[in-house]
Amino acid sequence: MSLSRLSPEVQEIKSKLDKFVLQRCQPAEIEYENHLKNRMGRDRWTLDAIPPCIERLKEEAKDLGLWNLFIPPHLTCGIPSEFLPSTVLSYREYGILCESMGKSFLTPEACNCNAPDTGNMEVLMHFGTPLQRERFLLPLLQGKIRSCFLMTEPDVASSDATNIETTLTRLEGPNGEISYRLNGSKWWSTGAMDPRCKVGFVLARMDYSLCPNIQLDARNLSAHRAHTVVIVDMKDVEMVRPLTVMGYDDAPQGHAHVKLNNILVTPQDLIIGEGSGFQVAQARLGPGRIHHCMRAVGMAVRCYDLMLERALSRQTFGSMLAEHGLCQAMIADSASDIEAARLLTLSCAEKMDMDGGARAARGMIAIIKVAIPNLALRVVDRALQIHGGAGFHEDLPLARILVGLRTLRVADGPDAVHQRSVALIELKKARKKLQSKL
Ligand SMILES: Cc1cc2nc3c(=O)[nH]c(=O)nc-3n(C[C@H](O)[C@H](O)[C@H](O)COP(=O)(O)OP(=O)(O)OC[C@H]3O[C@@H](n4cnc5c(N)ncnc54)[C@H](O)[C@@H]3O)c2cc1C
Repeated sequence: MSLSRLSPEVQEIKSKLDKFVLQRCQPAEIEYENHLKNRMGRDRWTLDAIPPCIERLKEEAKDLGLWNLFIPPHLTCGIPSEFLPSTVLSYREYGILCESMGKSFLTPEACNCNAPDTGNMEVLMHFGTPLQRERFLLPLLQGKIRSCFLMTEPDVASSDATNIETTLTRLEGPNGEISYRLNGSKWWSTGAMDPRCKVGFVLARMDYSLCPNIQLDARNLSAHRAHTVVIVDMKDVEMVRPLTVMGYDDAPQGHAHVKLNNILVTPQDLIIGEGSGFQVAQARLGPGRIHHCMRAVGMAVRCYDLMLERALSRQTFGSMLAEHGLCQAMIADSASDIEAARLLTLSCAEKMDMDGGARAARGMIAIIKVAIPNLALRVVDRALQIHGGAGFHEDLPLARILVGLRTLRVADGPDAVHQRSVALIELKKARKKLQSKL
């Protein structure tokens, strides 16, 4: 990919980042895994379980100016300058850096650019009150705490978020003071098991059953105005169990099944206000998809590079693997898949830069959310194949990357839901075109 369209400042950040990934993050991966290896059960979710190398890498990333690179230009307002990168990046520029970050699973956290924290920080930058920003945004920007986003529920099909059943019951005291009780069950709460995770953002359905005076159309609220995002202190959340992802528990962050048992929250804990849940969830997800997709490209490139090395170093039936036509086809298809994935994502990022953010690029964001993990998965699958048995072993990152990419076809909404969105947008355009011809 030509970097000629990057400014000298961004090129400099990129070359520092590339070096940081290759020379600091990738070599630290073994140390990270070894630190967790002999810890069992609850010991995997304690402060002691957090590999010291990650704090070391965070300090190095800060010193190198690689910290908080995700903050987009329109959200810098009110952020103390010490938390902002020296150059605030466009979506396209940051996308290019995300490809580099994807080449080690340690880099996003090392640079404070990891999901779900970036999305939650963006919510606070967009909509947070001064108090919410002080309590949660500042420590998140410093990398002192972590956060999670609690939407998915075990008992309902959560890919249609209008199904969400966790309730936020509005209560009115004798003097009109308002508070809320939160009740429900969530799962796949990424990061909730992490002992550093102090704040959760919960999507809940409004419940006005204890407010008989409220006449509002509460009982027939539109499906997209019925939910609210509310902030909870994680010490009030009951951990039911850690979940595994095809056998990996992803400690010490993890993915949890949690319960919200009658948690008392105040109006100051709501994001924007009652009924704004979908607005918040939408604002949170758009930019995150560029980040996920470009990191997926980086993961694919790492596997592709391993595939090339392997093809050039093993022999079967009298020839190097690289000399067999079938192997060459895999290499060619992978090169093409990577370039297609990269260009699609960057084209989406450019649309967001030029047309005013995630809303304008809605269709393209849905397209890349489906296309990129699938393209990247094909590359990783071929790399695994060319490695034979070695590809499946933890000595190499291939199997773990395959699992991580596979989850992207479901996490943040399954492929089918985004394909539906793309089709609806395209059909709407086609209908309009047809009508204009009549
Ligand atoms: C590793 C991982 C991390 C995650 N992290 C988080 C997190 O941090 N926070 C959070 O809230 N959630 C998280 N999730 C949950 C994820 O976002 C949900 O699993 C996803 O949105 C789907 O919801 P569901 O599991 O309820 O599936 P369902 O809604 O039950 O859907 C199941 C399947 O139905 C099919 N389907 C649905 N709609 C259609 C349609 N219109 N047409 C055709 N087929 C359709 C699809 O194949 C879909 O996969 C995570 C999931 C994973 C695996």
